Amino acid sequence: MVKEIGIGLGLATLIFLGVQGFNVIPIVFFGVMAYVLLNLMDARSGMGTGKVGQIKSQKSTTTIPGVTFQDIGGQESAKKELCEALDFIKDTDKIKNMGIRPLKGILLSGPPGTGKTLMAKAAANLIGSVFISASGGEFIEMYAGVGAKRVRQLFANARDQARKSNANNAVVFIDEIEVLGGKRGSHSSHMEYDQTLNQLLVEMDGLSIDDEVRVLVVGATNRMDILDSAILRPGRFDRIVKVDLPDKEGRLHVLKIHTRGKPLGEDVSLEKIAQETFGFSGAHLESLTNEAAILAWRAGEKKIGQKHFKEAIDKVMMGEKLDRKPHVDELHRIAIHETGHALIGEMVNPGSVSTITITSRGQALGYVRHNPQDDIYLYTKDYLENQIAICLAGAAAEELMLGNRSTGARNDFAKATDLAKNIIFSGMTDLGVVTEKDLPANLKHQEMTRIIREQEERVKEILDKRQDTIQVITEKLLKEESFSGEELRELLEQCKVA
Ligand code: ATP
Repeated sequence: MVKEIGIGLGLATLIFLGVQGFNVIPIVFFGVMAYVLLNLMDARSGMGTGKVGQIKSQKSTTTIPGVTFQDIGGQESAKKELCEALDFIKDTDKIKNMGIRPLKGILLSGPPGTGKTLMAKAAANLIGSVFISASGGEFIEMYAGVGAKRVRQLFANARDQARKSNANNAVVFIDEIEVLGGKRGSHSSHMEYDQTLNQLLVEMDGLSIDDEVRVLVVGATNRMDILDSAILRPGRFDRIVKVDLPDKEGRLHVLKIHTRGKPLGEDVSLEKIAQETFGFSGAHLESLTNEAAILAWRAGEKKIGQKHFKEAIDKVMMGEKLDRKPHVDELHRIAIHETGHALIGEMVNPGSVSTITITSRGQALGYVRHNPQDDIYLYTKDYLENQIAICLAGAAAEELMLGNRSTGARNDFAKATDLAKNIIFSGMTDLGVVTEKDLPANLKHQEMTRIIREQEERVKEILDKRQDTIQVITEKLLKEESFSGEELRELLEQCKVA
């Protein structure tokens, strides 16, 4: 309304000045320019009242989220810690009597897809609170001051939504908080970043137990190392909850949650799938169950079988099958290469091969999937040397059977050198305890070459004695394209007997 009156008055003045004989063209020109500029800034900063004024992805919900802690698999210690922290918000009267300062912020830290957003939603559900979410990236613009304004808007929006829903609490969830909470002064356009972070700190400092709507800030990050210390100091995010990749039990729990309501075949063993998926996050596991269902549906089957899950693991790990069909000679070389990996894998770690295939997927022309018997978090020297041997076995088999190597072993060598470095810098060589920074490059190179040569000799010796076995496995691979670890072990037994 004020805007319209202003425009009306401006036009009247212009007409009056024109009638009086003034040259109004420059005034009109600058006026139009200023109007366009103001409107643009308005839209950018979110000050406007229309749609553009909203933070696009503040997926605000006027209801309390339906996700509960029962919908989150594994993460038992994270759940426990989070629930304990939430007690301070649920029982405000009790904590007030004890003179306890309520929590203002909880920071969830962990790799992507481990369920941090789910946790924040479940937290909101537990305390009967509305849930407002935004991502760190949404606050940052080229223009100074825009981010700070958006932070203010976010908190105002949270209070508004809570009032509308008759809730006393609101959970403000900020994903990728490192984007706006990174160390101050470290960004090129640091004024904007710093102002945004300062505004978040101001908002958090202003939160009080006596507020009409109590706001809890839940931040999520997978880069704790780059967060500004101000954000982590007590009184702001004073609970830091680690949300890690799930262990075997956790993976089983997540699988059970995501197979609820899906028709599973008699042969499906979720335990086995949990065992084979070391390193998978909750999001990977959700995708795995979905892919398995799609594969079963495409095959026209009514139930999802173990074979669908097995193929889905490969798909989630390596990517979609490619139509690319290598030339027969190349396929023969790939089969020999993969046989080398599988054979050494079974020798150094019996029962570890899960699948061997020459089907191209993602970047790989073929691959051998190994599955650990148990989750491993610490590696011994023997283990690392065995892993190097497995990496080198593909190229060694090619050299032995075809007389030369190919570029297919490049990734294997990169892995082998990383493993060798791990041995050196974990103090497992005669060099003693050394750091990467202090060890001269030539010494590092010498030691890496020695470790790799030793394993290369070992692999060559094993393969040399088993050329017939390599031949048999290669032929089966060329015929069937892919088979399981169990079939490989049966074949190895037959070769031993023959
Ligand atoms: P990011 O850091 O990438 O934002 P995140 O840690 O917030 O990821 P979520 O968005 O919570 O991860 O999880 C993504 C999806 O993965 C969920 O919708 C859910 O389907 C599945 N998921 C992840 N973790 C779990 C879990 N622990 N239990 C059940 N499902 C899970």
